[in-house]
Amino acid sequence: MVTRLWFKLTALLAALVLVGSVVTLFVVTRVTQHHFRDYVADQDMMRAEHLALSFASYYQEQGSFEGAELLVDEPAIDWSDRGHGPQSMMHDEMLDRRGMMRHRGMRPVETERIALIEEDGSIAVNTTGEALPNDIGDRASETGVPVMYGDEPVGRLLVGAMIDSAFDPQQERFLASVRMAVMVSAAAVALVALVFGALFLAGLIRPLRQLTAAAQAIAAGDFTAPVTTDVNDEIGTLADTFRSMRDALAQAEEDRRRMFRDIAHELRTPVTLLRGEIEAMLDGVYPVNTESLRSLHQEIGMLDRLIADVRTVSSMDSPSFRIEPSWVEVGALLERVRDAFRREAAEQGISIVLAVEPDLPRIEADAERLKQVLANLVTNAVRHSATADRVTLAARRSHRQVQGLELTVSDNGQGIAAGEREAIFDRLYRVDPARTRSTGGSGLGLAVARQIVEAHGGSIKAGEAEGGGACITVFLPLSPAEPPSSQTRSLE
Ligand code: ADP
Repeated sequence: MVTRLWFKLTALLAALVLVGSVVTLFVVTRVTQHHFRDYVADQDMMRAEHLALSFASYYQEQGSFEGAELLVDEPAIDWSDRGHGPQSMMHDEMLDRRGMMRHRGMRPVETERIALIEEDGSIAVNTTGEALPNDIGDRASETGVPVMYGDEPVGRLLVGAMIDSAFDPQQERFLASVRMAVMVSAAAVALVALVFGALFLAGLIRPLRQLTAAAQAIAAGDFTAPVTTDVNDEIGTLADTFRSMRDALAQAEEDRRRMFRDIAHELRTPVTLLRGEIEAMLDGVYPVNTESLRSLHQEIGMLDRLIADVRTVSSMDSPSFRIEPSWVEVGALLERVRDAFRREAAEQGISIVLAVEPDLPRIEADAERLKQVLANLVTNAVRHSATADRVTLAARRSHRQVQGLELTVSDNGQGIAAGEREAIFDRLYRVDPARTRSTGGSGLGLAVARQIVEAHGGSIKAGEAEGGGACITVFLPLSPAEPPSSQTRSLE
């Protein structure tokens, strides 16, 4: 089962929030406890110093510490200020106050934890309600506040945490309330962080789900699947890229369909012609002789060329298609093309002229592919220009921004209408299908030429030659560094 991203991220967030809360709780509790202990120690010491005076007065008054624990319940009574009165009166007064508090339902003030250790080590006062620790004597002599009788200490006083480092119940309650406050606020923050985090993550993941749905639709062949994601972040960029990819795929799919349809149509025409002619021969309508067989042979030749062009196109579409560059002298290349077509052109009363600028640099190109392009352009000039009697093959330096060479094949025929000059590079496009088919064109030549030129990093375009004929210009960029002439590949 696929674990949902939202679940994973929310679980991660929850884990982080939990760790954060626990760490906060731990740190705040420890720091508070530490500082509170210091504070309590100061308070206990101050209280002990204050009480030591009262106990000293009491000792002076009573001659012993007997019954002195009553002092602890009444911290407000300052024995040092009270003059000298009978002991029984003081006792009675204090006991009366306690009784009144209980009677009114008031909780008596919690008894302070006080320990008074006499100099001989005996315990004079212990209000803790528990047995004092064994080392109380040592503690008293180390940290206890002396209760003085004249110049002599008669006991040592320990208050609160001075006795056994423990907090008294009230202090424990304070620390517990701090702990509780931190816990409650940590839990509240954790809850808010989790709820908002989960909502935010859900919002973040929603576009990804939409993209997944669109990708699944495309995988199933539906290129109309909408990509509704419209966010201004990396996911938005991904969605835009995805839209472009979907459109490119839709276009490629459309091109593929059209290509198959067009090829089927292109194949059908010569096959129908062949079939009709053969049937006519079988029916005895056409005579079976050298003349009619030559016509059939010609039809099959056209079919063959079409199939060869289709194969070239498909091989160039393949990702394994590579040009094999070498250093090429374009002047020599144009000469070769002229020589190859001279006879065919002459038969149609067309002369092929060369116009190559001197001292042209060599270019890095696939010589065979480039020759294929030029041959195709010359074939077009010879075939499609009924009125032409001259085809010019020219090469010169280009004066564009990018350094390069311009190779042109121009004729003085009827030319190509301005509106057709871009479309003729489309696959299977013909300006005049009926006429072109009769001259043996497949409609793929210029599409193949464009593909080869672009594979060289160049461009090809159609224009008008002087006198109105067609002029096809091939631009090829120059390589940054040209090697010594010995590395030039032979064109022969
Ligand atoms: P084809 O195999 O039909 O020649 P191309 O792709 O080479 O296919 O050419 C596409 C169309 O461009 C041709 O059918 C033709 O109509 C037009 N064309 C190409 N070159 C010339 C030219 N030199 N003069 C007039 N028309 C041309």
